[in-house]
Amino acid sequence: MPTVPKEDTARRPRVLVLGGGFGGIGAAQKLKKSDVDVVLVDKHDFHTFQPLLYQVATALLEESAVGHPIRDLLHKQDNIRFHQDRVTSIDLDARRVTFAELEPQGYDYLVLGLGAEVNFFGVEGAAEHAFPLYTLPDAERLKGHVLTNWEEVDRRPTLAEDGALNIVVVGGGPTGVETAGALAELYEGDFHKKDYPDIPRESARIVLVEAGPDIFPMFKENLRTYTVEALTKRGVEVRTGEVVAAVSPTRVTLKSGEVLPAHTLVWGAGLQGNALVQSLGLDLERGNRIGVDEELRIPGHPEVFAVGDIAAITDKKTSQVLPQLGSVALQSGEHVGETIAQLAAGKKTKPFHYRDKGTMAAIGRRAAVVQMLAGRTMKGTKAQLTWATVHLALLPTNEARAKAVVDWTGAALTHQRPDRITVDPEEGREPVGAQRPTSKERS
Ligand SMILES: Cc1cc2nc3c(=O)[nH]c(=O)nc-3n(C[C@H](O)[C@H](O)[C@H](O)COP(=O)(O)OP(=O)(O)OC[C@H]3O[C@@H](n4cnc5c(N)ncnc54)[C@H](O)[C@@H]3O)c2cc1C
Repeated sequence: MPTVPKEDTARRPRVLVLGGGFGGIGAAQKLKKSDVDVVLVDKHDFHTFQPLLYQVATALLEESAVGHPIRDLLHKQDNIRFHQDRVTSIDLDARRVTFAELEPQGYDYLVLGLGAEVNFFGVEGAAEHAFPLYTLPDAERLKGHVLTNWEEVDRRPTLAEDGALNIVVVGGGPTGVETAGALAELYEGDFHKKDYPDIPRESARIVLVEAGPDIFPMFKENLRTYTVEALTKRGVEVRTGEVVAAVSPTRVTLKSGEVLPAHTLVWGAGLQGNALVQSLGLDLERGNRIGVDEELRIPGHPEVFAVGDIAAITDKKTSQVLPQLGSVALQSGEHVGETIAQLAAGKKTKPFHYRDKGTMAAIGRRAAVVQMLAGRTMKGTKAQLTWATVHLALLPTNEARAKAVVDWTGAALTHQRPDRITVDPEEGREPVGAQRPTSKERS
């Protein structure tokens, strides 16, 4: 069992937490009452609630319901300091982390909670032209792009024939399905009927493309069938067994040779561990994740822990690697916080046990699926209420919960999308006489 280095026992142990996601925040908060000094670093000044990013991208939720100031989450904790900076390298042997601007930091305990990043699997043009949905800027970018396309078609209706309003969503997992469902509801609702009454509905297609034989492979067959029906009812074309081969700004080419005219491709097809893991000199698991032991320590470095999406944590009950989920990240982070608190107090530590609260996803209004550990399933309104309850509980503050409830209730009652505006932070900053290019000049 690791202990605080002997030569350092005169001072408080220093815990460096990298990443302010579910994992990092969970670890940091569990150290609140511990006799340690904690430093938390994240490249953003906000914590991102990724499960609801697609609701920002479809103008249902405002950004502050999904991005929460990290400093706010640490107000009640005296033993922590937060810095906004980017981690540039980690030297495990020297116990030293370097940053873009901060002075390098040493540590007694290190928590790696840097999350994952999008994997485009080398698909031609995807890195340049696809819209991933992993960060708040991703969600804002997608929303701005979709809203801008509608305004451009309003000015030049012939653009619709070129697929300007069509959206291809890649990936039949929760990110792809939830995003396709939400985009379809945006297109179906008042947004289309009242904002753009002159644009024919059939000129705006939403196509969900999945390489495998089924969407939602992690759910039971009855939930998979229900999901396809719910998406189809909302106007989503579900295409399974199709692989995206190339992406350009206006076209998506499938491996079969079919070309889909679409000016938007949303990438929900895969993740890999944060690129920094490549430089750690460790043998990585599938998806570039760091394999950890039952106390979530990394091989050969008992003072270093990996939590959340960056870690490959094997569930003791099933012997399977746990999925990249918010609940796994939060529970693993909290466990590591508790472990370090125990170590700092010279007490015994315990192995990590994941408490599975079920797998769930929302498809749209009154449509969701839930699968409990015991195999029980739910769908429809009941599943949506369960989904909402679990997600509200995961949100970091009561303020964020209140915002989500107000926006969800408003959307359910009025079909309104209150946040459908685009704000260009560069507007007005062009030199005098310079003009931003028009849609005509760009196409
Ligand atoms: C679209 C989407 C939908 C999802 N839906 C669900 C769902 O319904 N239910 C569910 O349970 N889970 C869901 N998940 C998964 C869940 O959100 C993740 O598993 C969880 O956020 C992982 O937490 P984490 O702390 O490991 O990483 P993250 O939350 O990604 O946090 C990592 C942090 O590290 C920071 N960081 C990264 N690189 C650097 C660097 N070089 N320097 C400094 N800081 C850095 C980032 O800014 C970030 O704050 C979804 C994920 C996505 C993307």
